[in-house]
Amino acid sequence: MCAALSARESGARVLVLERAPQDKRGGNSAYTGGGFRMVHHGAADIKKIVPDLTDDEIARTDFGEYSAEQYLDDLGRITQYYIDPDLAETIVKESTGTVHWMRDRGIRFMPNYGRQAYNVNGRFKFFGGVVIFANGGGTGLMELHYKAAEKHGIEVRYQTRATALLQGKSGVEGVRVTANGVPEEIRARAVVLACGGFEANREMRTRYLGPGWDMAKVRGTRYNTGDGISMALEIGAQSYGQWSGCHSVAWERYAPDFGDVNAPHAGYRHSYPFGIMVNADGRRFVDEGADFRNYTYAKYGRVVLQQPGSFAWQIFDQQVKHLMRDEYKLRGATKVQADTLEGLVEKMQDVHPQNFLDTVRDYNAAIKRDVPFDPNVKDGRTTVGLAIDKTNWANVLEKPPFEAYSVGCGITFTFGGLKIDPATHVLDMEDAPIPGLYAAGELVGGLYYFNYPGSTGLMAGSVFGRIAGREAAAHSKN
Ligand SMILES: Cc1cc2nc3c(=O)[nH]c(=O)nc-3n(C[C@H](O)[C@H](O)[C@H](O)COP(=O)(O)OP(=O)(O)OC[C@H]3O[C@@H](n4cnc5c(N)ncnc54)[C@H](O)[C@@H]3O)c2cc1C
Repeated sequence: MCAALSARESGARVLVLERAPQDKRGGNSAYTGGGFRMVHHGAADIKKIVPDLTDDEIARTDFGEYSAEQYLDDLGRITQYYIDPDLAETIVKESTGTVHWMRDRGIRFMPNYGRQAYNVNGRFKFFGGVVIFANGGGTGLMELHYKAAEKHGIEVRYQTRATALLQGKSGVEGVRVTANGVPEEIRARAVVLACGGFEANREMRTRYLGPGWDMAKVRGTRYNTGDGISMALEIGAQSYGQWSGCHSVAWERYAPDFGDVNAPHAGYRHSYPFGIMVNADGRRFVDEGADFRNYTYAKYGRVVLQQPGSFAWQIFDQQVKHLMRDEYKLRGATKVQADTLEGLVEKMQDVHPQNFLDTVRDYNAAIKRDVPFDPNVKDGRTTVGLAIDKTNWANVLEKPPFEAYSVGCGITFTFGGLKIDPATHVLDMEDAPIPGLYAAGELVGGLYYFNYPGSTGLMAGSVFGRIAGREAAAHSKN
């Protein structure tokens, strides 16, 4: 939608093809929490994006700052420095300007209190590099995008699935589609591919991510089946990035196969930094407090998938209950509760009881209790001497009733895709642009490897979408 708006304002006539019916439009973007990771230097910058922010809110909030250097460092560190440096720089450099550009086109933003900052003694402190989210979350974001598209005379054709790229003397000259079951050719001077990764394609998941990935639950839309990637590869585009990698999280174990856009967050189980996770053997298998949730959640789905039976349980006590995200309270959560740990494990399906009790005993005994707990900072309240230490937010599991939630693996999006340059040209095997072909969003490869810094997806998609629209419009005029 950013590509469409930007192409339109650069003077092009724009047609958006959407495979989904109108009531299911919006792609994964509609399922998001709407978080955007952008460069900012504190309250004054946030106020420019959220003019309604009151003096009182500013007084009781520490927005911190998120410099370009920190953003680049995070992109490097989290991806083990595999991220394409030119694309990384483009995201960082264009992030704040793109948010302002979207705001000028009607998208509204808010500070994400509660999710990205906790209330400690009446004061909020933002952590993990993300402050703002789109008002109304992903659905709000997409509603406003469609409204802007309508206002600017952008046509959207629903139930129209692109199946192939048409080539001619000037490069890509349109697409072949199937519209309501009928094949058709649509001519265009340029094509921007922005139709997602292959996360909703079981066969491609298993082929590229590996055995077991057919069993993952899809957190978002059912329509991102890798079509854009396949179409481009077919005409000689270069595959790029980590094709065996994806964003995946600990997710409600018995969630439906695909997300529900009316309840997009029901499956979230993101409060594990305040508890512990155990597998079927009753053992912990990750450092739940290795970093802020934003920096670990996207790699822990894979770790859950790799456990015996591809499931785990998250365990909490009443001391952290107030910090747990709302989704834990929703209907559909696989939850058990008991006044004793013995009673709890009896109810935790498929978990070795004695090992679990030993794990909790050893964990409780290993906590450095003299370090104060603080959810807004990496508090260093660690365990000492365990095979896998919990290095922050290690709370003693001691205040009943105890609660446990069963999780499986939920896939968000795939990392492998097409190679683009910072001007979003899709590149061929010799790194030469394929004339008339541009790409943005999930189907761009080379951004994420092994892990992902939370709320970069929407930002990157918007940055490259905006550039792609501008470039495609310029190409159309040639
Ligand atoms: C549950 C969830 C929460 C998330 N939370 C966040 C967050 O808070 N912040 C963040 O930055 N990121 C978040 N993400 C990641 C984010 O959704 C993606 O990075 C981003 O939305 C990708 O945008 P996109 O335009 O590439 O794809 P999408 O928004 O998925 O759009 C792709 C569109 O292409 C259509 N399509 C597919 N194939 C075809 C075809 N052949 N022909 C025509 N149309 C086709 C689809 O129907 C869809 O509408 C989240 C993802 C999920 C699933």
